[in-house]
Amino acid sequence: MTSESHSLRPPVTGTVPRIRATDIAKRYGPTVALAGVSLDVDDGDSLAIMGPSGSGKTTLLHVLAGIIRPDRGTVRLRTKSSVVDVTGLDDEERSALRLAELGFVFQQGLLIPELTALENVALPLLLAGISRSAADPRAQRVLDELGLHGLGERRIGQLSGGQAQRVAIARATVTGARTVFADEPTGALDSQTAAEVMDALLAATSARGRSLVVVTHDDAVAARCSHVVRVLDGRITGHATAPVTDHATEPVSGHEAGWS
Ligand code: ADP
Ligand code: MG
Repeated sequence: MTSESHSLRPPVTGTVPRIRATDIAKRYGPTVALAGVSLDVDDGDSLAIMGPSGSGKTTLLHVLAGIIRPDRGTVRLRTKSSVVDVTGLDDEERSALRLAELGFVFQQGLLIPELTALENVALPLLLAGISRSAADPRAQRVLDELGLHGLGERRIGQLSGGQAQRVAIARATVTGARTVFADEPTGALDSQTAAEVMDALLAATSARGRSLVVVTHDDAVAARCSHVVRVLDGRITGHATAPVTDHATEPVSGHEAGWS
């Protein structure tokens, strides 16, 4: 690792990044949640958003994903066919975008407890109009890739926390979603399991050219990501880029990775 300084991103010429957020602001009544945030996320990037509780991380994630409309600013998302401003979509367009392009993983996987692991993973495919007979083998393959072979028939309550988060990762990626958002996906796990789940999340996303945006409190999680931004009071106060490509073993530490 070197002490060389890195900017978050070289200037984009010609190509459009996967996500480009420009000057995002959002208030809740008198509370300023975001006060002018700009960032880019490119194909295969894994971006960790860090910061203290209440700093605006979840609001930022939800604005990037088109779940919350900001008061100001734009979020451009490059899809398979075009570039859309997610802040300008109506509900129907947003739902279609989410089904086709986006995946979500939350702290508690928000899996459906009455369904088996396989049924949970197949659900987004069924919602997309794919037949059960085509959806099930596809869901099974993704479960197998995430190390869950043989667990497809279990209900969520019969899985460990780490296994349940893998099911959530499978569900988030089974449709081929190219952009995945995760809000504290390892927040309820012990450190060893958190590391394994983070590795599974990266293997299912950035290692395949998908883009991952992950809110985390965990330095060990951020250290596995290619980029880290720090948020405080709704602003980005620092960013770092992993200085080497082997992000699984080389931690992004503030000084050495070139905070700016
Ligand atoms: P973080 O995820 O970093 O903990 P949030 O994005 O959830 O932060 O919240 C940022 C700020 O906005 C906090 O002050 C929080 O209380 C406030 N906030 C978030 N969501 C709402 C809401 N729906 N209504 C009112 N205030 C909110
Ligand atoms: Mg939050």
